[in-house]
Amino acid sequence: MTESQKKEKEKEKNDDLFQSALIPFRKAADLLGVHEELMNILLEPKRMIIVSIPVTMDDCTTKVFRGYRVQYNDMLGPTKGGIRYHPDVNIGEVKALAFWMTWKCIIADIPYGGAKGGISVNPKELSKAELERLSRAYVQALAPFIGPNRDIPAPDVYTNPEVMAWMTDEYQKIVGQPVFGAFTGKPVVFGGSKGRDIATALGGFYITEKAVDVFGITEKTAAIQGFGNAGMTMAHLLHEAGYSVVAVSDSKGGIYQKDGIDIPKLIEHKKKTGSVAGFPGTKKITSREVLEQDAAILVPAALENQITEENADRVKAKLVVELANGPTTPEASEILFKKGIHVLPDILANSGGVTVSYFEWVQNQMGYYWSEEEVREKLKEKMLSAFDNVNNAANLFKTDMRTGAYIHALQKLIEVLKYKGFTATCTIPGKMEQKWFLNSHGK
Ligand code: GLU
Repeated sequence: MTESQKKEKEKEKNDDLFQSALIPFRKAADLLGVHEELMNILLEPKRMIIVSIPVTMDDCTTKVFRGYRVQYNDMLGPTKGGIRYHPDVNIGEVKALAFWMTWKCIIADIPYGGAKGGISVNPKELSKAELERLSRAYVQALAPFIGPNRDIPAPDVYTNPEVMAWMTDEYQKIVGQPVFGAFTGKPVVFGGSKGRDIATALGGFYITEKAVDVFGITEKTAAIQGFGNAGMTMAHLLHEAGYSVVAVSDSKGGIYQKDGIDIPKLIEHKKKTGSVAGFPGTKKITSREVLEQDAAILVPAALENQITEENADRVKAKLVVELANGPTTPEASEILFKKGIHVLPDILANSGGVTVSYFEWVQNQMGYYWSEEEVREKLKEKMLSAFDNVNNAANLFKTDMRTGAYIHALQKLIEVLKYKGFTATCTIPGKMEQKWFLNSHGK
């Protein structure tokens, strides 16, 4: 076994992220009184696929990459979720991300289950041709398990419309049909939806405006960690809405300017230099320091585990909008809640991305495409109604919005399962009538 194969094996044991993802979920299930037997089903992914992907590199050597796809739950429809290219990708992470997708899709009120995929790779070290071969090989390995009515991948960290185009093209070659709904997040000219590129941030922005109103936040300052697709678009939207964005960061570092950063100019700078770092007229800070700046709205839009037990106490924001998946640990969530900081949890805040993915899939099935205005209108309606559902559940159960989000999602899932008659095969007299989905404390 080579060193890198050993490292990959080590990563596969990592279950920490998934275990911590379960903490608020269990809390919600307890408050709701979800039956233990149903919990046992929901705590396990339906299918986990690990593939080895040999790729010929530009120098004619062959490298073997490891790819993952976890299809967590398909009780409500085909599974859905992005594909991540990152050196830290491992099965535990993909499992947690697939778990979050499951609840995100229910909260977004779209007819899907949850999945996630990834490849353990540093895409910055590969040429474009190598990335294309890797992406196509990933689809070859997973083709029997995906499809428009089975499992529909999309972009995630370090994947984009171009990667989706390669993957769609490869899938179409394999099945011998021009199937477009097998992937979402495609380029608009190749079966994509207008508005998909900005959807994650725009959805988050709609409910940020709503939350500001509902929670009575008057100060118009923001800090954003992460300047990829979601972070950059959010910075732009907030800037245009009159917010002063005082701090931002990306993987190379952070910047601060107390009077507000000129976001359009910063976007030009990032496009030119590849980073926000070194933007003239700003002070250099670390990416972690962005989280602690004096700004009313904090948007973590990078990776997991950024707001932790260690720094949560120093968060000064009044509202945290989780555009990243899993940026706040369960311990940190408790601290923020006690401090009275409102958190729009990831499974609500970043659901705009998968919502417009759903619109894309619908358009693909119909072969008829909507205007950007239509997409925005439909997205806004869905986001605002998801916000209300989550906020109402949180208020009703006197808990934080993350727990409220899981409560709302669990209630909806149970409602469907009751119709599906999950216990139909049970023939013991009297047992059928039992309230199987909720336990004796069930509400
Ligand atoms: N990767 C995005 C997410 O985490 C989008 C998923 C999708 O569009 O299917 O929600």
